[in-house]
Amino acid sequence: MWESIQSMCLHVVFILFTILIYQVFFNEREEKRKKIRSKFFLFMLIILIFTMSQPVYHFEIYKYDFKAIVIILSFLYGGKRAGFASFLALLVIGYFTDQKLLILLGNYTVFSLLLLPVSNWFHKYRIKGKVIVISLFYMTIPITRAIFLQLKGDTRETFFELSSSLIILATLIAIIYLIENMNEQIKMKQELIRTEKMNVVSQLAASVAHEIRNPMTSVRGFMQLMQKEDLTKEQQLYISISIEELDRAQEIINQYLALAKPQTEQYETIDLTSLIQQSIDVMHSYAILNSIHITQEVEPSLKIEGLKLEIQQVLINIIKNAIEAIRSEGEIWISAAKNSNGFISIQIKDNGVGLSEVQIKKLGSPYYSTKEKGTGLGLTVCHQIVKQMGGQITIKSELKKGTCFTINLPSKK
Ligand code: ADP
Ligand code: MG
Repeated sequence: MWESIQSMCLHVVFILFTILIYQVFFNEREEKRKKIRSKFFLFMLIILIFTMSQPVYHFEIYKYDFKAIVIILSFLYGGKRAGFASFLALLVIGYFTDQKLLILLGNYTVFSLLLLPVSNWFHKYRIKGKVIVISLFYMTIPITRAIFLQLKGDTRETFFELSSSLIILATLIAIIYLIENMNEQIKMKQELIRTEKMNVVSQLAASVAHEIRNPMTSVRGFMQLMQKEDLTKEQQLYISISIEELDRAQEIINQYLALAKPQTEQYETIDLTSLIQQSIDVMHSYAILNSIHITQEVEPSLKIEGLKLEIQQVLINIIKNAIEAIRSEGEIWISAAKNSNGFISIQIKDNGVGLSEVQIKKLGSPYYSTKEKGTGLGLTVCHQIVKQMGGQITIKSELKKGTCFTINLPSKK
């Protein structure tokens, strides 16, 4: 009995150690992990081969191993394909290690099919929920097995059966904690890098904007003085155009400055419907210039809490991107409606160049731009503003077909 438990512990150590090595040195992104040729699957195979070739014997006749853990982990963290691949590997190894193939096939087919919905639920929960879901699921195996043994009248094995199941379950829980905690840390690190980048960007923007504003003010002042001189009509006109242009630049800089500085102003109630209308009006001439038609369908009297200028900036940035994505001739659809869950969803859809999946992932990180004169700051700023208001921007896009930006903002009650 003790010997059996000792050799089980050897399995536990081996499995935990292998998973640890995978997590520390070879951890892959989720999409990569889901491929059959991933390192994750390779590590699962290593564990499977080890645990099935060195089973723990009890009373010389009963064999125990940890293959269930491998199948569960493959389905949970590697997805369907890795799951079924592990299942096939299990049958092949079972054949070479003289296991009863038919029983294996029957048991693990049911097991795998049950794991499909379970792995979907699993990812919806936080770590504790995950552990509970998987424990409940795993316990069905030893329980059905114990019932089966009882019916056969074989009670010798029941105690060992239960204690070994507990060991397996504890191992499984330890592995889940290990993987989840490490993945959480990696995510946090990425988020940290992203916010750090954003901080640097907004500080730089603020200082540059500030530096530029002062010389511009003096230039404007001297221009105004010059206007009073005795000048020809043409010269007067040039000067007033210059002043107008300076004012426009000033306006843009002010907006950026407003974004870069930390949020101190009070939120106010905004009439979103008319704000959207204003933003479309602002962009109207830019759209006409590119022969683009804007269609809109905005529900009346939508209200949100926030800062007017900022929301307008978000809308203008996204509409401007849509116009630039179409380049010439096309259509932009803008709609806004209140959802049943208390959010207002604004959609801005274009039939422009679209984005590939790789591009979508890069969107919103500072300085990412595909345009010759682009800053790559527009969307970064949009994300920041919307996030601050408790909302979210989601992007759907298809290359060459078009892009749809959805802005969800909490509605005012
Ligand atoms: P900029 O407009 O200065 O390039 P943004 O942050 O506004 O910076 O946008 C970043 C990039 O995202 C753009 O260069 C473009 O490649 C892509 N993009 C944004 N909106 C769209 C869209 N509606 N359709 C296609 N690509 C888009
Ligand atoms: Mg832009």
